[in-house]
Amino acid sequence: MAYVLIGALLVSTVFAVIQPFLMSIGGPKPTPPPPTEPIVKVEAPPFNADSAFVFVQKQVAFGPRVPNTPAHQKCSAWFANEFKRYGLSVISQKFEATHFKGTQFNAVNIIAQYRPELPRRILLAAHWDSRFQADKDDKNKTAPIDGADDGGSGAAVLLEIARTLAAHPIDQGVDLILFDVEDQGDDNGEPETWCLGSQYWAKHLHKAGYMPYSSVLLDMVGAKDARFMKEGISMQVAPQTVDKIWALASSLGYSSYFIPETRSGITDDHVFVAREASIPMIDIISTPNEGDDPFGRHHHRHSDNMSVIDKNTLKAVGQTMLAFLYGFSQSPKS
Ligand SMILES: [Zn+2]
Repeated sequence: MAYVLIGALLVSTVFAVIQPFLMSIGGPKPTPPPPTEPIVKVEAPPFNADSAFVFVQKQVAFGPRVPNTPAHQKCSAWFANEFKRYGLSVISQKFEATHFKGTQFNAVNIIAQYRPELPRRILLAAHWDSRFQADKDDKNKTAPIDGADDGGSGAAVLLEIARTLAAHPIDQGVDLILFDVEDQGDDNGEPETWCLGSQYWAKHLHKAGYMPYSSVLLDMVGAKDARFMKEGISMQVAPQTVDKIWALASSLGYSSYFIPETRSGITDDHVFVAREASIPMIDIISTPNEGDDPFGRHHHRHSDNMSVIDKNTLKAVGQTMLAFLYGFSQSPKS
């Protein structure tokens, strides 16, 4: 993600994103019933932020996860192995994607299924690639970034959730999807130059007719200054899910991270999942609004390295997501 839709100058772009998206609602594919369970006290296991932190470190240690590099290849194999180690069944969805600069990328979405036999499923997603250049930096602008927060953090939280599910089984289907080639887009180009992995997956669902009961994207969820606002497009497609998660976060004491205010829409994987697959996915993404960069001072810069990662932020997001998941497990089934 890299493209914020703010201000009058971008109004037409906002409509370009939101319009087709709204048109997709009520389309031929079925939409799931909204999650309407009241918020009750949820018994969820503790989220281990130390382990999640190590998962970020491991990704960064491979080097920048830019498609067509050995680091990218090694890291994708590592993800698949980790998910399998926790008992999930893994589909490595390989595809080719054309970068806006013309390169053909060999890419892979990693789809990890917890209890694939269960029909009612929750989908959690993140992107796992890191950006090919540090556009916003003052120096070494053409060198790739570590992407500890932008890419690494969301994937690490998902992996830690997989580890937790293995240790604390639930009677609930969960899919954890790591999208590739989210962050190789053109800052001055079309939204469609971003999010190539989710665009591919939404058009080639791993299971025909796939429709999760609830669906959440995590992006930039590990920095010490993180602040999550209710993102505009999420509020259009699944406001109940957004409100439920923000209320859960507040009940857990994380209201300093999860701010109950709506902000404008952001082009991220959830937009394409909703538009192409009619799956109403929401986005939890940090917009700390520091200075002139809404995504924070480390965004698309070399400073997006391990030094920005804060276990407290990983804990706030991870614990909230566990409460969300385990809450479904404890609610009565129809
Ligand atoms: Zn990014």
